[in-house]
Amino acid sequence: MQNDMLYPDRLMRLSLMGGEARAFLIESTHLTERARSLHSTSKTATAALGRTLTLTSILGAMLKGEDESVTVRLDGDGPAGVILCVGKPDGSVKGFVSHPGAEVARRGEKLDVGALVGHNGTLTVIKDLRLKEPYIGQVPLVSGEIGEDFAMYFTSSEQTPSLVSVGVLVADRVVSSGALVIQLMPGASEAAIQSIENSAGMFMDISKTLLEYHLEGTCEQLLTHLEPEILDTVPVAYRCGCTRQKVETMLMSLGENELNDMIKTQNGAEVDCHFCNTRQRFTAEELKNLIARIKEKQNTISDAK
Ligand SMILES: [Zn+2]
Repeated sequence: MQNDMLYPDRLMRLSLMGGEARAFLIESTHLTERARSLHSTSKTATAALGRTLTLTSILGAMLKGEDESVTVRLDGDGPAGVILCVGKPDGSVKGFVSHPGAEVARRGEKLDVGALVGHNGTLTVIKDLRLKEPYIGQVPLVSGEIGEDFAMYFTSSEQTPSLVSVGVLVADRVVSSGALVIQLMPGASEAAIQSIENSAGMFMDISKTLLEYHLEGTCEQLLTHLEPEILDTVPVAYRCGCTRQKVETMLMSLGENELNDMIKTQNGAEVDCHFCNTRQRFTAEELKNLIARIKEKQNTISDAK
C-alpha cells in the first residue's frame, strides 16, 4: 500500500524544448481510489472512470479563472453507460459512471476499457468560462479507450496536436493511476515534433512508471531528453463541494408551487448527489421554511422597487 503522505496526488505543469511543447504530468492514484470506493466500481469501470477523472483534472488545470469549470461527458454504446466528470482549476475533480458495477471480460492481460465504454459514441467537453455561452467541443469516440479519444479531442476540437497517455492499475484497490499529456505549441519545429513522436513508445505504460518512480522521478525518467522546465506542481483531489446550503438554494430556485407539490405528494424531499453518493432529506416542515424564505426574498425585492 502507498504512503499517502509521501506520494499525494499532484499535477505538474511543464514546458519542453524551450517552449516548443508543453506537458501535464499527473499522479492520481488517491483520487481514483476515492472514486472507486465511493461508487463501488468494477475493476474495468474503475479504470474507465479513473482515466476520465485524471484527464479531466488536466483539462481543469488548463483553465484560467477561479470560477471556471470543465465538464467531460463520455457517451459510448457499451455497458458502462455515461461517464461524467467535472474539473476545476483549484485541482478538485469529481465524477460518476451510470453503471458502476458493469464489467466485461479482459482482453489478454488488459482491462478492456474500450469494450466497457463502447466503440461508438461521443466525447463532449463543456467549458464554463463564465461567459454568456459555454464552450462546447465534441468528437466521435475513436476506441472508447479514453486516452485516444482525448487525443482526438485535443487535436481536432482544440486544434492542438497532443500525445495522451493515461492508465489505471487496479487490484482490489487502485494501485496506480496517472497521465501524461504533451501538446505542441503553435509553430513547433519539425525537429521538436520528431523528438516527441520518437519517444511516444516510452510514455505508454504511464501508470507503471508512476508506481515505480512517482511524479518527480517519472518526469526525470520520461522527459529529461526533452529538456523539461517545471512551471509548477499543484495538489489534485476528489472533492464534490455539495453542501446542504447549496441544495437549499437549488430547491428554492424550483419555486413555491413545486415545493408545495413535494410537501403534498412526498411529505418532504430527497435530493441525491451522484458525485459523492449522498442523499439530503428535507422534511415537510423544512420545505415550508424554504417557502417562507422565498416569500421573504420576493417581499424584499418588491420593497426595493
Ligand atoms: Zn456531492
